[in-house]
Amino acid sequence: MAEPLVPCPFCRSTETEKRSDFGTSLMVRLHYCRDCHSHFEAIKWGDRAAKLDLPQFLEER
Ligand SMILES: [Zn+2]
Repeated sequence: MAEPLVPCPFCRSTETEKRSDFGTSLMVRLHYCRDCHSHFEAIKWGDRAAKLDLPQFLEER
């Protein structure tokens, strides 16, 4: 079963790889972006993992 692609929140690249099943909490996974060499955390929501909620600072309000 293939891992869902998790786009990088910084550069939107899908050239990411999973680094750890657990990040700073049980709800997140640690990913690494090969394009901008950043680590980021993705919230685990089953097969909705690729459809992350945007961080609050990206919301225009
Ligand atoms: Zn990136």
